[in-house]
Amino acid sequence: MSLNLDDVDRKILRELQEDGRASFRDISSRIDISTPTVSARVQAMVDVGLIKGYTVTLDSEMLGQVSVALLIDAKPADLDKVAERIKDDELVRQIYVLSDSRILCMISFYNQMKYQRFLEGLAQIPEIVKMDNSMVLRSAKESQRAALTDEAGLLIRCYYCGHVIKDEGVKIKLDGKYHYLCCSVCEKLYREKYEKLKKSAAAGVPAVRSSPEAATAKTSHEHSH
Ligand SMILES: [Zn+2]
Repeated sequence: MSLNLDDVDRKILRELQEDGRASFRDISSRIDISTPTVSARVQAMVDVGLIKGYTVTLDSEMLGQVSVALLIDAKPADLDKVAERIKDDELVRQIYVLSDSRILCMISFYNQMKYQRFLEGLAQIPEIVKMDNSMVLRSAKESQRAALTDEAGLLIRCYYCGHVIKDEGVKIKLDGKYHYLCCSVCEKLYREKYEKLKKSAAAGVPAVRSSPEAATAKTSHEHSH
């Protein structure tokens, strides 16, 4: 199996980054690659998890929101814990764990009170050592963080051991979804673990109710070609 990107993939991705609504036929004619190839390549990049979805880009200024860049200092060992604590807050738009023992957090809000409550919540997190925040006055550039230069490759980690998969990986399909493993040993162990988890999920925990809120809350506006 091929676990890397080639020029065709990168060309397709650039077209999609430019216009997520472009049809396979549009892309095909723009980059001179057959429509079935475009379709197959896009499907492969969706399967591997590189294409996460198709989204809409809004003008934040036009929405009249206030944005703040917040820098949070914490001990290196606590950074992930702090990020985990704040990531589900609706005000938090982006979180980057930085190398110098800090977290950069981009926040957007309409209501000053909500922001105050958010800051009060942060004050309750003992792992936070220090915070600095600055208001965003205007944006001079806003692009997706994923940059598609010619060097862009694919980095897939083995679902079992977590190591980066080199040339020969194993791609298996379980319950309609692809899973990627680095070698046949990991594949065997992963299959066992998967079956075990599936069995225990089917056997026990009947108390798990599927709530319609939980199901719909995650629905993003994805469009299919
Ligand atoms: Zn592995």
